[in-house]
Amino acid sequence: VNESYNRIEEVDDQVKAFLTLNKEAALKQAAELDETRGDDAAKLFGLPIGVKDNIVTKGLRTTAASQFLDNFEDPLYNATVVNKLNEAKSVTIGKLNMDEFAMGSSNENSSYYTTRNPWNTDYVPGGSSGGSAASVAAGEVPFSLGSDTGGSIRQPAAFCGVVGLKPTYGRVSRFGLIAFASSLDQIGPITRSVEDNAYLLETIAGYDNMDSTSANVEVPSYTDALTGDVKGLKIAVPKEYLGEGVAPEVKEAVQAALKKYEELGATWDEVSLPHSKYAVATYYLISSSEASANLARFDGVRYGQRTENAETMLDMFKRSRSEGFGDEVKRRIMLGTFALSSGYYDAYYKKAQQVRTLIKNDFEKVLEDYDVIVGPTTPTPAFKVGEIIDDPLTMYANDILTIPVNLAGVPGISVPCGFSSDGLPIGLQIIGRHFDESSVYRAAHAYE
Ligand code: GLN
Repeated sequence: VNESYNRIEEVDDQVKAFLTLNKEAALKQAAELDETRGDDAAKLFGLPIGVKDNIVTKGLRTTAASQFLDNFEDPLYNATVVNKLNEAKSVTIGKLNMDEFAMGSSNENSSYYTTRNPWNTDYVPGGSSGGSAASVAAGEVPFSLGSDTGGSIRQPAAFCGVVGLKPTYGRVSRFGLIAFASSLDQIGPITRSVEDNAYLLETIAGYDNMDSTSANVEVPSYTDALTGDVKGLKIAVPKEYLGEGVAPEVKEAVQAALKKYEELGATWDEVSLPHSKYAVATYYLISSSEASANLARFDGVRYGQRTENAETMLDMFKRSRSEGFGDEVKRRIMLGTFALSSGYYDAYYKKAQQVRTLIKNDFEKVLEDYDVIVGPTTPTPAFKVGEIIDDPLTMYANDILTIPVNLAGVPGISVPCGFSSDGLPIGLQIIGRHFDESSVYRAAHAYE
């Protein structure tokens, strides 16, 4: 725990991964744990962990990187995952920067400051869990939690050269995760190694009666899957994942990874996920619709920001929301409200739900014959701070390879698979069947 704070002191003025530190309480907790050191078999005994700032932590400021929650200093409860970390006796070091309400791919939508990529601080760390990935890459914490709605764990993990897993939808409780798009959101682990990742998922996964969408499916020992043996593993490589728009050096890195899998005794075939070309459009309709409903709770009455100068009650709602939300959040709320409005619902929201089913069916069909799907995590390595922030459509296209996985609800991991000519990490994405994180980890571990 001391090492973590020393490292943060040393590098966080450049990396800017943390929004809030828990130093006093964490040092006290660590000192108490020291008393039983060696006698306590708790799974994460004394290990420092960073938590994305959209995961509610009792008594520790939780902002989701929004001005709306800037004064949310003292939450009354813990997210279920935080309770599980506490039971495993890890120590929460602090809260990690992100895009406001998890909307973004670069951390530039944080209302505080932009986290930087530790490999080169001119570049973005990815998003929205940019702080979670950068803090692990910079050696500030060995473990962190992120959340992934359309790629927000895997894309920053790829950009920062660390391991990030989005679990199957329902695998990890969302209770206490500030909701963005409830049918897509999942909390997951970001770590330096696949083994650490499996270990952390074992700790946070499982049924929770506080989240009706959490699944009552037994949690296996994910670390048992790390045999190093992938002989006979059947890999599918979607041709859409190595098509136009994917940078040549990313393709080369993935091809080299496939070669390594062949050497390890796995086989691969090219397959097709024909509807994945509709995934980005589908995702922005569904996620924005859900966000417009979820963010209605930020009304100036119950939490956070309330305007100083309102004349009437309606004026108070309007001004509080205008003052508290950033531009991207407003854009999503408008998009979602439009897609759900009468007269447009059938043309947009309902249509998007139908396409979502087609996308899900594509994945299920391929995964009937193959153990895992492998491709790049992102079409390009990290881009520069400021490079595409004024062009939302280009920004949205960044998630083209991660979004289909959320729409299908299946698990996906990003593991490092080499570097670009500029020295920036490239991520390999491995996708599995519903609730088969074990095969994903097995494949990832053997490659690593
Ligand atoms: N970048 C995507 C978005 O802006 C995904 C975000 C996420 O997974 N939370 O919506």
